[in-house]
Amino acid sequence: MAFVVAIDGPAGSGKGTITKLVAKDLNLVTVDTGAMYRCVTLECLNNNVNYTDLAGIEKILENIDIKFKKEGENQLVFLNGKDVSKEIRTFEIDNVVAKYAAVKIIRDKVAPIQREMGKTQNIIMEGRDIGTVIFPDADVKIYLDCSVEERANRRYKQDIEKGIKVTYEEVLKSIIERHKLETEREISPLVKADDAILVDSTNLTIPEVVEKIEDIIKSKMN
Ligand code: C5P
Repeated sequence: MAFVVAIDGPAGSGKGTITKLVAKDLNLVTVDTGAMYRCVTLECLNNNVNYTDLAGIEKILENIDIKFKKEGENQLVFLNGKDVSKEIRTFEIDNVVAKYAAVKIIRDKVAPIQREMGKTQNIIMEGRDIGTVIFPDADVKIYLDCSVEERANRRYKQDIEKGIKVTYEEVLKSIIERHKLETEREISPLVKADDAILVDSTNLTIPEVVEKIEDIIKSKMN
């Protein structure tokens, strides 16, 4: 196995932003596992397949092809050959993705793909179950936490910047519901691994979080 950094934590804790910056500084390949669940969800919605329709989901999974491609500073996500980087981040997907991500056959399909990525390249992989299920032997495990109000605040600002029409209350409600689904589900619930280092980003700036995490990683790299 190559060098693997696992970053888990709830929606809006800053995982995506921090992961990109740390990866660039330390020359690691980023893997956004949430994007994979978002792609499966988008494909299901496009084909009117509900998260309870296991036969329908199975069919979708047989033919699905998810690829990441780096373009300059950005990492693009391709679903069956089409760039869906923006489409997978709508408020609509935010609201249902946790329901699809709790479906066992979806996780069984996605998990081996994620493990394969850590075999040949040094990676920083972010998600919910990376340090607990995907790479229980990861070289570094971080659990990035943040208060629910601040997480909603960040997501709200991001959504407004993207031109999405939404209120703070709607975002807060969606974040709370998603958190409940993710922490209470039977398979791969969001939980801090015993040996993960907790970093709370509530009152920290982005550079402060980056510095903290890079210090932790560097101490394990030697
Ligand atoms: O990180 P992001 O918010 O993009 O993830 C989208 C959804 O995918 C999460 O709400 C979660 O339900 C699911 N997910 C997961 N396991 C992961 C990564 C994401 O269940 N490792």
